[in-house]
Amino acid sequence: MTGRLPASLARASIAFLSMEIGLESGMRCYSGGLGVLAGDFALAAADLGLPMVFLSLACRDGYVRQTIDGQGHQHDAPDPWDPAEWATPLPIEASVAIEGREVRIRAWLREIEGTSGSRLPVLLLDTDVEANDADARAITSRLYGGDQDFRLRQEAVLGLGGKAVLDLLGLEIRRYHLNEGHAALLPLALLAERGDAEAVRESAVFTTHTPIPAGHDRFAMSAVRAVIGDVLADEAARLFDGARELDMTRLALALTGWVNGVSQKHAEVTRLMFPGHEIHAVTNGVHHVRWTHPAIADLFDRTTPGWRAGASALAGFETAAGDVDVWAAHMEAKRALIDDVRSRTGHDLDPDRPLIGFARRMTPYKRADLLFGHLVRLLKIAENRPFQVLLAGKAHPHDKGGKALIARLHEIAHSCGAHLPIVFLPGYDIEMAGRLVAGCDVWLNTPEPPLEASGTSGMKAAINGVLNLSVLDGWWLEGCEHGRNGWCIGNERDAAAPGHDEWLLELLEREVLPTWYDDRTRWIAMMKHSVSSLGPRFSAERAMRDYAGQAYGEAVEVGG
Ligand SMILES: *Cc1c(COP(=O)(O)O)cnc(C)c1O
Repeated sequence: MTGRLPASLARASIAFLSMEIGLESGMRCYSGGLGVLAGDFALAAADLGLPMVFLSLACRDGYVRQTIDGQGHQHDAPDPWDPAEWATPLPIEASVAIEGREVRIRAWLREIEGTSGSRLPVLLLDTDVEANDADARAITSRLYGGDQDFRLRQEAVLGLGGKAVLDLLGLEIRRYHLNEGHAALLPLALLAERGDAEAVRESAVFTTHTPIPAGHDRFAMSAVRAVIGDVLADEAARLFDGARELDMTRLALALTGWVNGVSQKHAEVTRLMFPGHEIHAVTNGVHHVRWTHPAIADLFDRTTPGWRAGASALAGFETAAGDVDVWAAHMEAKRALIDDVRSRTGHDLDPDRPLIGFARRMTPYKRADLLFGHLVRLLKIAENRPFQVLLAGKAHPHDKGGKALIARLHEIAHSCGAHLPIVFLPGYDIEMAGRLVAGCDVWLNTPEPPLEASGTSGMKAAINGVLNLSVLDGWWLEGCEHGRNGWCIGNERDAAAPGHDEWLLELLEREVLPTWYDDRTRWIAMMKHSVSSLGPRFSAERAMRDYAGQAYGEAVEVGG
């Protein structure tokens, strides 16, 4: 590269690649959990001073701008943003061969400053440059947009383009961390270059993030040939004995030397999906400072100084904080959320009644309608001890089941009327997530096990003292102390037990609502224990320490 490299880039020796990254609400190159996690990990890596560079796509048209009409139908539109407002372009253009011509790739640099003062570079790859034809310029337009070929072109930009950019910058990368199979073309390019699969594996780490088949891309070999050319396609074909399809997860598994799932349970499930591979577990975590509401952060500053530099300090919160202060901070977050709901929707929620929140990608396996499976009984419970429900989440434009779910939730909200206030907030994003995970009283999670690989929004809630009410799946299997830091819906072993829908109503009626209304002291004790027992363990800091020690071969100081 001409000129001097920013110091943060010059020292980078570990590259983290993800198709999406959620750093700021307005940098709309993210869709949900995977991207927000990458953002949290980048912040934690900056705090820890790890010599890393994060790479993702600039996707200028964002993911989906969600609006919902009177019938509860989601309408999708592009959600454009301008990288120039958030990042600076590096004075280089890499290029990769895609569909027989050279596609030029620019990289936008955004630097993150960690608590320790060290800076961490994030590079966003962008094909919208003058030298490219219209099709090439569109590759980094819409995140997860278009058809299979479009997706493969995006993955070529991330994997092959990512490597080309790092090479052009002259960085000596000794570990490439692939998140999902999306970047699996990168080690394939390394293999073509070095010819030694063992050496490639030594430098590559792979994290799989979902057991859902749709989350694992497969491309027809003919399409692979057309997009990345014969040389690389031959290399891939050799690895899989001339298979007609290229499975990106299997490609990543074949060319990486250290593989993990994102919770203990998910690692177990992954072992069954891909026998013969050693699968480690690194449970996800969230950036504890980013997700703490200002009112709660204030309280942490007073009770557990040092918590910003190290999440483990939060272990002391439950003995250090007074009940009155905890409740006051919580109510401040709750009122801010309720004000926001009013200004967005005109609905008036009552701060003196319990508020249950549920915000997820709207897709059938997350079962957003589980709470409403027995409406008559639910309304009876609400008559006795009133509560309110806040919902949010986008459906992928092609997810008909997810869209039907949103329509059904609107129908249910309408039919419950004033008996049970249910509000759906359109346009779930990072900013809204921040308000929701701090301002609700209860955070509901009802996936069909074992499909929720980890889940992270519950961790954000936990750190704000918002109590999780969740099916035992993903992280909650590791974190739940039933009746002490939240509640579990159902139990793992007893197949003859009632369904999750009835179990949930039972819990609401007998434990959750009675505790809120009749035993506020116990509720607050649970809030405090939620912070202390879950905050340190499910922090991005802990997760990045695990990756550094186990997968990157990078020592991080204890404490920190
Ligand atoms: C945290 C977060 C998610 C992921 O939450 P899950 O619990 O894993 O579903 C998705 N979207 C946004 C905006 C988030 O902040």
